[in-house]
Amino acid sequence: MNDEKEEKFNIGAHVYESSESNKTGSWRAFKPIVTDKCIGCGTCEKTCPDGTIKVNPKTKKAEIDYDYCKGCLICMNVCPVKAIEKEIEK
Ligand code: SF4
Ligand code: SF4
Repeated sequence: MNDEKEEKFNIGAHVYESSESNKTGSWRAFKPIVTDKCIGCGTCEKTCPDGTIKVNPKTKKAEIDYDYCKGCLICMNVCPVKAIEKEIEK
């Protein structure tokens, strides 16, 4: 990699670090809510672009880290049993 390309790569990596260290959940317009219909299949966990929804191994239910969830609602759209609902963020 030449110096110019390396510099561009490093700038991109910097932006990622910044988004990880800030609580980007404040960007949300919609808030996904996991309901009791969750069967713990893990589909949402595999597709969340921010890695902010995980199936709790004890409860077998998906849980969302609202500090980082940006409200894209991909989890809601991929859930096979429609266990995720949305609220308008207040
Ligand atoms: S995709 Fe739906 S059913 Fe599967 S773990 Fe996520 S919320 Fe639960
Ligand atoms: S709304 Fe988007 S960011 Fe938030 S948990 Fe669902 S897929 Fe992840």
